[in-house]
Amino acid sequence: MPQIHLNHVSRTYSSARGPAVVALRDVSLEIEQGEFVAIVGPSGGGKTTLMNILGLLDEPTSGEYLLDGQAVNVGGPRNAPQLRARTIGFIFQAFHLLPARPAVDSVELGLLYRGVPRARRRARAQEALLSVGLAERAADSTSQLSGGQRQRVAIARAIAGDAKLILADEPTGNLDSENAERVLDELQRLNVKGSTVIVVTHSSEVASRAQRIVRLADGAVVSDQWRGRPLTSDALSPSVGLGRSAKESLNAGEPQVASNTLLLPTSTYSRLRVLDLLRDAWASVLSRRNQTIGLSFAVAIAVALTITTLGLSSSATAQVSATFDAHLNREVTARWSTGTAHSPTLTSVPEVVGDLRGVEAAAVLLDLSPSTVSSFAESRQVQPHVAVGNITAAGRLEVAEAPWHSGELHADEVLIGDLLASQLQLSSLAGAPSIYIDGNNYVVAGLITGSPRLPLLRGEVVMGAPADINTHAATDASLLAITAPGAAPQVARQMPAAINPYQPDAIFVAAPSDSAILRGQVEEGLRTALTAFTVLALIVAVAALMNATLLAVHTRRGEIGMRKALGARNAQIGALITIESAYVGLLGGAIGLLLGMGAILVVTISQKWSPVFDTALTPVAMLVGLVVGASGGGLAAIQAARLKPADNLRN
Ligand code: ADP
Ligand code: MG
Repeated sequence: MPQIHLNHVSRTYSSARGPAVVALRDVSLEIEQGEFVAIVGPSGGGKTTLMNILGLLDEPTSGEYLLDGQAVNVGGPRNAPQLRARTIGFIFQAFHLLPARPAVDSVELGLLYRGVPRARRRARAQEALLSVGLAERAADSTSQLSGGQRQRVAIARAIAGDAKLILADEPTGNLDSENAERVLDELQRLNVKGSTVIVVTHSSEVASRAQRIVRLADGAVVSDQWRGRPLTSDALSPSVGLGRSAKESLNAGEPQVASNTLLLPTSTYSRLRVLDLLRDAWASVLSRRNQTIGLSFAVAIAVALTITTLGLSSSATAQVSATFDAHLNREVTARWSTGTAHSPTLTSVPEVVGDLRGVEAAAVLLDLSPSTVSSFAESRQVQPHVAVGNITAAGRLEVAEAPWHSGELHADEVLIGDLLASQLQLSSLAGAPSIYIDGNNYVVAGLITGSPRLPLLRGEVVMGAPADINTHAATDASLLAITAPGAAPQVARQMPAAINPYQPDAIFVAAPSDSAILRGQVEEGLRTALTAFTVLALIVAVAALMNATLLAVHTRRGEIGMRKALGARNAQIGALITIESAYVGLLGGAIGLLLGMGAILVVTISQKWSPVFDTALTPVAMLVGLVVGASGGGLAAIQAARLKPADNLRN
């Protein structure tokens, strides 16, 4: 039974534009195990197409291909990747090694996809490198090797895989004659040990080593010429064209490909382990350092924006809350009319209210009827007030006090609004100026320069409480209270009964009862805006990453094709690209976390907010990076998985 049996095989490339190309027409060929066949012929004659079909990288349009008696023709067996991995070794003009990774990684790759355990893979790869004279270079990056050395690494890969069929498409096309010679020697040694070697070549030197020369032109076999008998290791003879160096190395007792000592059972290992996949993806990411850093920065920026918006959202809402609590939410005002039968004793009200839980300051302000207020220079008609208790604190007044004054306002002292003071042309407070209200003299103890709670006071005047204040004629009274943050609603409920236990209904309380709702709305609005911003940033990052990974897969077509030729399944290629992208995402997550925390710090410091660092941001950053990475790589992964090796391994 021939190892290879092609029965009337044709391959037609149909394309949307232009006529279909018949690359192979009705090729019938039988090749026995152990032959050394050269395929020659003009460029475009169909040699590569034939090799792709022989290597199960492509399928005939019609005809039948039996490999070891098993039909592998149209439709292809499901286990083509495994069959390739176990049976076939590929050697290409363009080498197709893993760039910038240790030579041994490329040698191991086929074994990886066969599920061979790591230690065993490594041992076998080392041995294969030793047999091609590259044991010393195992750890060196393939980028540092010469062309000849690279091709010998590719041969070592076929040796490690124990390939019974070696397909070499112009293996010496990129090599000088000395290196070509060496590579041919290696191929010949493999052949001597029993592997079938099929070499596509333009070189008569190469062809002269073969026992059989098949000439292809226009897709058809035009000649099939025998030059000698199949070789066996004990029938080596110079007459069949074995190169001197090959003969020497064979005779020198160099370590043989130890297929008997490190036998690979064909069925024991079948699954690529997850850990191997993760490790391979990690090495792959590391081998493209600059690209990895570039891509991870795209992710980092999205993660940084997410972290910043999430972080600032808590800082900003905390800030909104603090602002509400600091002002509106802490002011409670009660109003009533004095002079009725059960009206409260004015002097005790600030104390009683001040004793309520949560009250930080309380004062009463009486509104008197408009009076004439005059200085030596001017006079005005304004509304005077009388304050009982610390009106400066309770009314949130900004007061420029006279240097000599401190503490509460006495009965003969006033605080005067700064606007009124300038109308009255009052001199500096240091000179203790005095004014007249309804003919009574008062010393100016301070200027009211600002009052967000009682803005009208800047044009009015506040007097200290006289001793007879409790018997004052009927007027309107206000109690102004400042509460602890959050205590306002409760204080407002208790206040009427505290001020007037007999007639609580006569006390009208104004408290910011709806401030909690308002605050909630402001926070909600802020969060919505920041969330929208974050979502946008994430979409941009995924799109950028998608673009970049698609481009990366395009530049790695050859490598991906090679991985498939070595036995990788579509899902494994998809997983590789996704995992690589996820690694990039994780790296971007870590960088983004740092950038984001920095941004939060800068914003909060410049806004004088208190920074809120949520420890949950760390896992969030990593998760966001991972998801952005994996989803950004998704499309490229699908594309890579679908990539046809035959189209992408062409020289
Ligand atoms: P060789 O390796 O002998 O140079 P090929 O097998 O590469 O020849 O190509 C045989 C013919 O098939 C050529 O005419 C080539 O242009 C055509 N061909 C090869 N691959 C494709 C493809 N993917 N699509 C269309 N035509 C193709
Ligand atoms: Mg070709």
